[in-house]
Amino acid sequence: MLNLVLFGPPGAGKGTQSQKLIARYNLVHLSTGDLLRAQISRGTELGLQAKKLMDEGLLVPDEVVIGMIGSALKENEQAAGFIFDGFPRTVPQAESLDRLLAEHGTKVTCMVALEVQEQELVKRLLERGKTSGRPDDQNEEKIRKRVTVYNTETAQVAGYYAAQNKFCGLNGVGEIEDIFGQICAILDQHQSAVSEGSQQATKEVKA
Ligand code: AMP
Repeated sequence: MLNLVLFGPPGAGKGTQSQKLIARYNLVHLSTGDLLRAQISRGTELGLQAKKLMDEGLLVPDEVVIGMIGSALKENEQAAGFIFDGFPRTVPQAESLDRLLAEHGTKVTCMVALEVQEQELVKRLLERGKTSGRPDDQNEEKIRKRVTVYNTETAQVAGYYAAQNKFCGLNGVGEIEDIFGQICAILDQHQSAVSEGSQQATKEVKA
């Protein structure tokens, strides 16, 4: 299985790259932001609670997003792999993801982090806010709050994956196709390492 954690601050291009990656690698896209917005549109109690925090640019509690990811993994037992977009955003979420994937006999393949400076993020999100309909994209103060929350609460998740030798940082400013090509090169390298490893294991079993 190919399980990619696509990481980066709001506006780094995770959603755009996810759409291209799911088409190329036949992966299931799990965006906790999208899952939460679906709850809001359905008017559920969870959605109502989450909306207040999301509108302020704050994180929703770990147990809420971990529960949603756990259910989504169960609903997609046959998937070839997953892209986790906007999750994990805290170290406890990253630890839970490891645990949940282990229960399904798999693990995180790698984290790709898209790196973009704050000024560019603010510009991109204000532009997206003109059409996205997202209240959290339409106000510069809220956007800056989300970036601050990313820097103070989320950025340390990169270290969690670096400690497992699974971290790969990329410049998220440039042509969408170029950045896509660089992510594909990383994923292809991981896939060929996995298939070489399993061929080696087969040879060792035969010998
Ligand atoms: P996103 O669509 O990823 O930009 O997420 C929009 C908002 O949803 C965030 O600002 C948070 O309020 C909330 N959110 C999404 N994913 C998470 C997560 N993994 N942990 C906590 N809050 C989240």
